[in-house]
Amino acid sequence: MATTLRHIADLNTQDLHSLQGQLRSEYDGLRARSLKLDMTRGKPSPEQLDLANGLLALPGVGKHLSQAGEDARNYGGLQGLLETRTLFSCMLGAAPDRIAVSTNSSLALMHDTIVWALLKGVPGSAAPWSHINTQSAAPAFICPVPGYDRHFAICEEYGIRMLPVPLTGHGPDMEKVEALAADPAVKGIWCVPKYSNPTGEVYLPETVQRLAAMHTGAPDFRVFWDNAYSVHHLTEHRHELANILDLCERAGNPDRVFVFASTSKVTLAGAGLAFFASSPANLRWYLARAGKQTIGPDKLNQLRHVQFLKDEDGLHRHMDAHRALLAPKFDAVIAALESRLGGTGVATWSKPDGGYFISVDAMEGTARVVVELARDAGVALTPAGATWPLGRDPHDRTLRLAPSFPSLADVRAASEVISLCILLAAAEKHSSQPIRAEN
Ligand code: PLP
Repeated sequence: MATTLRHIADLNTQDLHSLQGQLRSEYDGLRARSLKLDMTRGKPSPEQLDLANGLLALPGVGKHLSQAGEDARNYGGLQGLLETRTLFSCMLGAAPDRIAVSTNSSLALMHDTIVWALLKGVPGSAAPWSHINTQSAAPAFICPVPGYDRHFAICEEYGIRMLPVPLTGHGPDMEKVEALAADPAVKGIWCVPKYSNPTGEVYLPETVQRLAAMHTGAPDFRVFWDNAYSVHHLTEHRHELANILDLCERAGNPDRVFVFASTSKVTLAGAGLAFFASSPANLRWYLARAGKQTIGPDKLNQLRHVQFLKDEDGLHRHMDAHRALLAPKFDAVIAALESRLGGTGVATWSKPDGGYFISVDAMEGTARVVVELARDAGVALTPAGATWPLGRDPHDRTLRLAPSFPSLADVRAASEVISLCILLAAAEKHSSQPIRAEN
């Protein structure tokens, strides 16, 4: 039975001890249920994947020609089919001639563009990013936090220093970004500008404008604009993002941004399409490198995506079907957090209008304990600290919840457990700290 709780700071020692006792016995009861639930990664559920089953029968025998008559079965077509670039141009905010279509993973594109920048430099580079001389420090990236662990893993893998900057609810703290970007060793920034992973926030137009126009110490600074959730709305309101490619061009920094997106969470996470969009110079640079890597991408998959989704309306209709499956799961998590933790002062959480995650800030110094408590009660959570560079959350506070994959019933059960663990960890932490005098 859930205990209705006052603000934890209002409890005297006796109340706190009795609360702890109640929560512990409730927790032990949960543990005895031998649950096996997983809220770790933002994967589409089987029902979401089923929405794209129509793709599996496409393009169909004899349907392998593009609109321009290219044989999609063959080599070639490095930039991707025009009709595919046209269909997804709304997701990238770029004209079809500024887009390249790749294989299924945008993360692979981000990885490869970083490696190419390190080895060869990008348009505007005086030297490859990895060239360090006595005057220069190792390259660094600005990392808005909490952020996407796999972005940080790429930096860690290649020795790129990571400079955390707090997110504000509307994008990164731009004062701090601008100050850091003035250093010539700072080569880029990771941005998930819409329904950010994990906070769900959407960058304000002013933030996008400042990123496009700010002074950078490195002439070859790049904004890695990972628009992974551009059409992934959880409400009827489809948030719009300012167009960073246009703003960069207008600010006289046409080459500043690399835009990435994919259909991993539109069609099939393991068999979708990934996209790169940028200025003409950057696109030429990208295609020159990609042309050494492949003789041409999978154009049958490009063709089947166009045949299946048809046009921009079709894309949005398909995303509405995802929303119908996802929104109740997000609502269930938020309802559990609110009913258990509302008014207690032990946690705050995001209420995203899109994307795949809910970010919870538990009481400082308790996130690791919460993850352990949840694990012992049969609920797997993303490791505490994962949303920070090198896995180190200096406040030990942020938890990332990913409700997409489990069934709605499992999301409900897992959310109860997580809320209880957050409260129990806070009560135990609080009782080990000085508290106000007895009433
Ligand atoms: N970017 C962000 C922000 C993500 O959250 C994810 C997956 O969770 C990805 C990229 C992975 O994209 P892809 O499947 O295209 O490699």
